[in-house]
Amino acid sequence: MLAHCNFCPWDCRVDRIKGSKLGACKLAAGSRVSSYFHHTGEELFYRGTQGSGTIFFTSCNMRCAFCQNGDISTDKDNGEETDPRTLATMAWILRREGCHNINWVGGEVIIHLHAIVDAIALLGREFAPTREELKGARRTKADRFFAFDERVDAATYDGVFNAPMLWNSNFFITLESMKILRLITDVWLPDFKFGPGRCAMSLAKTPWYWETVTRNIALLTDWGENFSIRHLVMPSHVACCTYPVLEWIAEQVPSAPVNVMAQFRPDNFCDPATDKYRDRYAEIARSPTGTELANCWRRARELGLNFEATTFERRQQFGITAMM
Ligand code: SF4
Repeated sequence: MLAHCNFCPWDCRVDRIKGSKLGACKLAAGSRVSSYFHHTGEELFYRGTQGSGTIFFTSCNMRCAFCQNGDISTDKDNGEETDPRTLATMAWILRREGCHNINWVGGEVIIHLHAIVDAIALLGREFAPTREELKGARRTKADRFFAFDERVDAATYDGVFNAPMLWNSNFFITLESMKILRLITDVWLPDFKFGPGRCAMSLAKTPWYWETVTRNIALLTDWGENFSIRHLVMPSHVACCTYPVLEWIAEQVPSAPVNVMAQFRPDNFCDPATDKYRDRYAEIARSPTGTELANCWRRARELGLNFEATTFERRQQFGITAMM
C-alpha cells in the first residue's frame, strides 16, 4: 500500500517508498513523533489512574483551519524521525510504566499506518529494546523527568507483553485501512466533527468527509468493536454540524459513549491575535457561547445519547454544575 498510497480517501497513489512525489499528507515513508507521555487529560475510561500511553505523530491528512495542534499537524518536520523499533520501544516503556493502553494519535495517525503496524507486530514477537534504543527513545518522552514505577506485571498477560491498542483518529480512513486496523486495534476513538453539508470543505478542505466517517463508525458497530466518539462543538456550527452529528449517532450507534466537547478556542488560522489569521474564518474566530453549548447538550439529552458521564466528568469531579 505504501508504494501506491491509499491509506486515506485522498487516494494519492504516490510511491511513498521512493518519495519522489508526495501526497496530501506530504509524507514519504518516514514517520516523525512529536512527543510521547502518560496522558492524563483523556476521558477517564482511557486515562484511568496511570494515564493513557500517548504517542503523538506529526502531519495530517485534513486541514482544519482551527486546529489546536497546528504546530504538530502542519509542520511535517516537527519532532524526531522514528522507525518501527523506536515506536515499539516507546509503547513498551509507556506500558511498563503503567499506562493502561497505547494511544496512537497525531496530527493524524492513519498516514503512519505502515510504521504502526510494524511496531505492533514487533511488540507481539517478544520485543525487548536494547539499552541504546531505550536511551534514544528518551529524547521525545515529554514526561522523562518524572519517576514512574515499573509495573511489569500489569504489562504482561500469560507471560508475554500485552498492551491494549487505542486508535485515536479523525477517521478519514479508507476501507482498506480500516480492515487492517481491525486486526490490531482494541478500542477506537473517532472524531466526528462536521455535518453533511460543505463545512468539512470550507473549514478543513476535506472532501467526502461525512460519507467516510459515518461509514467507518458504522463499521465499528457491525464488527462489534469497542469505541467512543468525540465531537467538538464549533461556534456558529451548531445547526449545520453538531445537530446532524448527534442525530446520526442517535439513529445509528445510540449506545456509543459520546464526548460533546466544549473546549474549542480560536487557533491556527482562526486566531485573530496571530499573523496566520484569515478573515474568511471570522465566523469561528471565537469560543462557543454558553447558549450554543447548552443547546448542543440539550439536543444530546433529547436524543437520549450516552454523553453526560463523559462530557461532564471533569465538572462533576470538581463539583461544578453542568450548564444546561
Ligand atoms: S496517507 Fe492519504 S494523504 Fe498521505 S499519501 Fe496516502 S492517501 Fe495521500
